[in-house]
Amino acid sequence: MPLAYDTPVSSLPGVGPVKEKALAKLGLTRLGDFLTFYPRRYEDHTTLYPIASAPIGVNVCVKGYLTKPATLSRIPGGRQLVRCTIADDTAAIDLTFFNRPYVRNTLEWGQSYIFFGKLDLSGGRRTMVNPQIEPADAPKTFGSLMPCYPLSAGLNNNQVAAWAQAAVNALVSPEMETLPQAILDAHRLPPADWCCRQIHRPDGFDHLQAARDRLAFEELFHLTLGLSLLRRSREQVSGTPLTAGDPADFAALLPFTLTGAQTRVIRRCADDLSKATPMNRLVQGDVGSGKTAVAAFALWRCAKSGAQGAMMTPTELLAQQHYRTLSALLTPAGVKVALLTGSQTSAEKKSLYAQLSSGEIQVVVGTHALLSEGVDFQNLALAVVDEQHRFGVNQRSALAFKGGHPHILVLSATPIPRTLALIVYGDLDVSVLDELPPGRKAVETFLVSESKRQRLYTFIDKQITEGHQVYIVCPAVEETDAQEGDPTLKSVKAYAERLAKTVFPHRTVALVHGKLKAKEKEAAMASFAAGKTDILVSTTVIEVGVDVPNASLMVIENADRFGLSQLHQLRGRVGRGQWQSYCVLVSNSKNPDTRARLKTLCATTDGFQIAQADLEQRGPGDFFGARQHGLPQLHVADLGVDVRLLSRAQTAAQELLTQDPGLEKPEHAPLKHRLRDLFAENAHMFN
Ligand code: ADP
Ligand code: MG
Repeated sequence: MPLAYDTPVSSLPGVGPVKEKALAKLGLTRLGDFLTFYPRRYEDHTTLYPIASAPIGVNVCVKGYLTKPATLSRIPGGRQLVRCTIADDTAAIDLTFFNRPYVRNTLEWGQSYIFFGKLDLSGGRRTMVNPQIEPADAPKTFGSLMPCYPLSAGLNNNQVAAWAQAAVNALVSPEMETLPQAILDAHRLPPADWCCRQIHRPDGFDHLQAARDRLAFEELFHLTLGLSLLRRSREQVSGTPLTAGDPADFAALLPFTLTGAQTRVIRRCADDLSKATPMNRLVQGDVGSGKTAVAAFALWRCAKSGAQGAMMTPTELLAQQHYRTLSALLTPAGVKVALLTGSQTSAEKKSLYAQLSSGEIQVVVGTHALLSEGVDFQNLALAVVDEQHRFGVNQRSALAFKGGHPHILVLSATPIPRTLALIVYGDLDVSVLDELPPGRKAVETFLVSESKRQRLYTFIDKQITEGHQVYIVCPAVEETDAQEGDPTLKSVKAYAERLAKTVFPHRTVALVHGKLKAKEKEAAMASFAAGKTDILVSTTVIEVGVDVPNASLMVIENADRFGLSQLHQLRGRVGRGQWQSYCVLVSNSKNPDTRARLKTLCATTDGFQIAQADLEQRGPGDFFGARQHGLPQLHVADLGVDVRLLSRAQTAAQELLTQDPGLEKPEHAPLKHRLRDLFAENAHMFN
């Protein structure tokens, strides 16, 4: 049977049901999937070292001959051991092979072989365990870079490499090119088929680098081109201009004076909203910068203009909080505000649905329950999405779909490094709230270990005595979630109980975690917000957006288990009042990298700087999960490092679209076809 792109992996030699499953875990179900399943690294089988000068502790190639015949012995456990010594003109190595008795016959006396393995020193002698062996006069892999693929349990690299080669041999052809010749020429890029062969089995580091660069360029080019098309397709539709409701009148409703940044961004939104082309704006602002006020303005203006607005949040807790804030602010201004979450009874929901479709409710706040089938708006003209990084492009467009073409306002507290923002938010206009409300003091942050626990408890008590409240965040929910063998991992329930009974019997301690019923969560949060609870022990459900200005201390247990950006988010829950606030990171980790990571947080409160550090240390996965955003996955390109490639790819995409906005020219057909595939979930972009 001829192998084709869609040939299931089960037709490959050696793939039975078990391997098929293991491959599926890696996203490999069709033969064609192997083409973009790139090696993680390469073993250098190109350099031959004289034994005496070969580096110790790494994989190396050496050439040698047997100095005496190999011996076979049995060791306890029934394992077989072959030992021998090889040498070249410079030195010798003792080789040991476990369970490879045949090696004794493979290695012939008087012959030269190439050995590839990790060289070690033991008792002053060089050793190598289970090296690969190739005859020196007819080497198989020597002279090339051997690809090492990402693996899952039950797979070994040799097999995967063989299947990948099978895919390359069967499928790679000049027809796979999607980049127009003009772009290949202008950017001096090698052809697609050559690159695909090289990345799977490079001839050398130079070729590998050239192939990698081109493939990364191509990915970034496809991505930016697709995003531009998405944006254009959106600009061609028309929405409802929202013209009533002057920013100055809105400011008068607020209990505080807007910051300069808030005023600026609100004016920007007012301009956007008054147009027929739907707004598509991201407001990025560090935690506590007052993004809610911007959302409130847009929703108020929408209601004033006689239309409906919806605000979607990633958690119920946040929906409830925004509901409280917005109804306190907008109800006196004559706007009807409602809350819709998944945990409401079906009777409640039914009544809400009716009021939404009649237009009686002007502003609705809710979780993704807003996307439920029963929800039908009379006249949805504005969709606000809070804490956008929790939602994907697709959920955003789903909400947009509910209302035809509403204006979209996205709020995000995740400061995204510039390179990533271009991509993650490539289809949005960006405004930044770069000013905190006056009187805020930077949160002081400390890193402490278990040995300081008593002092920590004293500090907590002191904050409460001074009239403040305290958050304590733990990573796990229940005993069973706690990782075995980590005695310091604070299981939130047990920990809260212990604190309440033995450490702070004279204080009120409450608990919030994701497994509580919504009503219980709401009650616990409401009591904390009302100042009735001194200490709130919690999992990361409080991470996003929760606002209790009286809280002055955030303690984070097992802080090493969180990413920097997440820790920054958590820390943002305090420092919202006029008083000095603190964040204490508790970690027993001795790992110098981990400690350096946590120290970044002690040194700065600038979210952008922290995001940049996170990007450098952990890669872009946290910001940019393809699945999360519904955008094509990047296999080669690394947004942390490929900044120059990205800007080249963007320029190329813009130039191309200037010449051929709809990609209608015949030479762009393969490109258009590929984009359709990559952006399948956003198919409307070509309309
Ligand atoms: P975030 O940007 O993190 O969503 P919020 O909108 O929740 O921030 O605002 C944080 C806190 O600051 C809230 O208590 C809010 O009432 C208050 N706030 C917002 N803007 C101002 C302002 N201009 N002056 C004073 N307080 C403000
Ligand atoms: Mg917020």
